[in-house]
Amino acid sequence: MSEIVAIAPGLGTAVGRFTEASDVEVAEVMETARSAAAEARLRPLKERVAMLGRLARVMTEQAEHINRTICDATGKPPVEALASDLLVALDLLRYCEQNLAAALAPRERPTPFYFLGSKSRVEYRPLGVVLVISPWNYPFQLAMAPIITALAAGNAVILKPSEVTPTVGALVGELSELASLPEGLIQVVQGRGDVGQALVEAGPDLVFFTGSAATGSQVMRSAATKLTPVHLELGGKDPMIVFKDANLDRAVNGALYGAFSNAGQACVSVERLYVERRVYEPFLKALASGASKLRLGSSVDDDVGPMINPAQIEVVERHVEDALARGARLLTQRKRAGSYLAPMVLADTDHSMLVMRDETFGPVVGVMPFDSEDEAIELANDSPYGLSASVWTRSASRAGRVAARIDTGSCSINDVMRNLANPHLPFGGTKASGFGRYHGPEGLRSMSRTVAIMSNSSRSRNEINWFPYSGRLHKTLRLLMSTMDDRKLLGRTRRLLTAMGRKVI
Ligand code: NDP
Repeated sequence: MSEIVAIAPGLGTAVGRFTEASDVEVAEVMETARSAAAEARLRPLKERVAMLGRLARVMTEQAEHINRTICDATGKPPVEALASDLLVALDLLRYCEQNLAAALAPRERPTPFYFLGSKSRVEYRPLGVVLVISPWNYPFQLAMAPIITALAAGNAVILKPSEVTPTVGALVGELSELASLPEGLIQVVQGRGDVGQALVEAGPDLVFFTGSAATGSQVMRSAATKLTPVHLELGGKDPMIVFKDANLDRAVNGALYGAFSNAGQACVSVERLYVERRVYEPFLKALASGASKLRLGSSVDDDVGPMINPAQIEVVERHVEDALARGARLLTQRKRAGSYLAPMVLADTDHSMLVMRDETFGPVVGVMPFDSEDEAIELANDSPYGLSASVWTRSASRAGRVAARIDTGSCSINDVMRNLANPHLPFGGTKASGFGRYHGPEGLRSMSRTVAIMSNSSRSRNEINWFPYSGRLHKTLRLLMSTMDDRKLLGRTRRLLTAMGRKVI
């Protein structure tokens, strides 16, 4: 068993020490989760709603403590932690509390006429044990959002937080106790990737993974052994397309926030910026000027916090070096103060550069001009990723047209990064950005087992398709097929079937 030391980025000091879970502990956690899930599925929906309400109250009361823990773990400025981690999680919690009954209520469905006497409905039942594996960049929101949804759908949860932000994982356990959630309903297991893998192999009923595409692919492979379903929320390389008729001041501010909030360490960061050539140079000038005014630091008045660790800084440096070697222009200063990197705007980039191809996950944005709508769409789609995108124009028809042709899980029009924060909208990716949707009714249902029920109240001894088979029945069924759209002939067929003792009407 090895120790995990949580280091405060920006300061380099230890903020917590944890012992990695052993294989025996992983097995015990899974057993506890199974018992908790068995109890959870019997719990009336009203109790689930009440439980979410208690958790929401605790999160509100503990807001300062939560915010401080997130900031200590990541170095992000308090406004960032409050707006993007805590507020988003709390809003989703309130959404689930208010909407879970409607989203998960059984739904009647039509029944074909020749199944007379039958009624059809769909039910949404708990899955059992949901394993949540979360990353470090929004360590609270990206752990809590799937946890909240899983609980709302009646499941038990195991959380494996990132080894980089274990203190936030421990905080989730604390909140669960403060909200008096039933024993074992949320369990937090500390550990590195191997512990994550052991948990996947222990056979939960669903793995909800948020992280890189490379690890997501590994998780899917491990889950395949037991045919465990996986929900993958992976990386992105989000394009932002700015047309010449856009509100340019707003688009520049949107690009600054989209590219540099959380120091660019967001799955939905703007990483590729395409600007119509007519406004390319003035846009670049305003963007570079805005970027150089952003304040580096971790205090309440700062904008851009530190990079999470040296490995992430190395990725950024490599992407910038590669872009410069291939002819990109750096319009801002290349400045590093400890773990803090000054925001960088790279102009005249192209798709041969790493910065336009791979996820950079840092305060860098590559910018390219385009001449036509088709070219902009082609550039936006020229990526293995498809998480989110944004289109900036005053023309509603162009916005709709372009958004419809981008391969993405979500798209904003004259806005950026906000879809993920709207609990009513499903969120998730396409292509290498993963699959599955959470948030909204889709999210609640994706954490449920969809069960189709047909019940028959017919007193007839036989049904249309049951034995005995005969040539007469065959002919009648053929007639039925060919008359389905003809009311008169349909009546005749029904009479025939009734005469044969097959109760249809
Ligand atoms: P990683 O993929 O490195 O890790 C994600 C989680 O998986 C961590 O808890 C990690 O543990 C764990 N893990 C690592 N190896 C395994 C394994 N073999 N089996 C099971 N679990 C494992 O991602 P990061 O933490 O570096 O997060 C950044 C990535 O997350 C970026 O690519 C980003 O785009 C993506 N992301 C996607 C989002 C989305 O909603 N689509 C949102 C936010 C981020 P440990 O940390 O201990 O190694």
